[in-house]
Amino acid sequence: MEKIGKRFEGKVAIVTASTQGIGFSIAERLGLEGASVVISSRKQNNVDEAVEKLKARGIEVLGVVCHVSNAQQRKNLIDKTVQKYGKIDVIVSNAAANPSVDVILETKESVLDKLWEINVKSSILLLKDAAPYLQKGSSVVFISSIGAYQPQSSMAMYGVTKTALLGLTKALASEMAPDTRVNCVAPGFVPTHFADFITKNDAVRKAIEERTLLNRLGTTEDMAAATAFLASDDASYITGETLVVAGGIPSRL
Ligand code: NAP
Repeated sequence: MEKIGKRFEGKVAIVTASTQGIGFSIAERLGLEGASVVISSRKQNNVDEAVEKLKARGIEVLGVVCHVSNAQQRKNLIDKTVQKYGKIDVIVSNAAANPSVDVILETKESVLDKLWEINVKSSILLLKDAAPYLQKGSSVVFISSIGAYQPQSSMAMYGVTKTALLGLTKALASEMAPDTRVNCVAPGFVPTHFADFITKNDAVRKAIEERTLLNRLGTTEDMAAATAFLASDDASYITGETLVVAGGIPSRL
């Protein structure tokens, strides 16, 4: 981390679901590179704790409670950002839910709705609210998953919502060009709370490591580095793309 640059000096970045895990590391990375970061999640105490951690690292940060499927809280997230910083340069849409391990045809309708609502629809609605404030040269990054390419049976419908983000990336890249670039990161397996049920099982973890060319799980910092690249001007000629960050787990040619 000592050698990172300052690609986000003067920029304002919103990261959803960013009080722990991948979202937190993305906020930290963008902040260390000079961005004013706006972090959010469902629980006030998680927001407060994460704000303190980022401030302790010298990062300019605003924390706002935002359950991404709550319209009022989404609007408040954008309003508070604009009131404090006056504009938006980067949005990282990172929130997701995986409420069930049922196979698709046994998944309850309410669960199907929740998956669509949190993993896809909320991202679209947040961007609708943010659109008037997005600057020329701004950038959106969706967080998908390696499971977008080959949904695993224990999380198949979750995988399908992540596949939808690949299409959304293409469609919005076209719709928001040339002023805003839209890209996507597809993480492999990263030991976070979200992935506990996979990465804390020794046999499953070993099996994943064995089919990962780089022989290890990913880190939240790996995901943050890739996201920061796509959000930065280093990627100023890249839009509509998904970067797989999965240590070589097969995705597509
Ligand atoms: P995580 O460590 O469990 O963190 C989840 C964060 O999201 C927390 O800050 C949580 O805080 C917040 N959150 C949860 N539900 C929310 C909601 N409805 N609205 C707003 N905030 C919410 O998860 P993670 O592993 O970093 O996952 C982040 C993203 O990476 C997800 O899109 C996931 O699909 C993707 N991903 C993860 C992996 C992996 O192996 N970990 C692999 C592929 C893709 P509160 O509890 O306070 O809300």
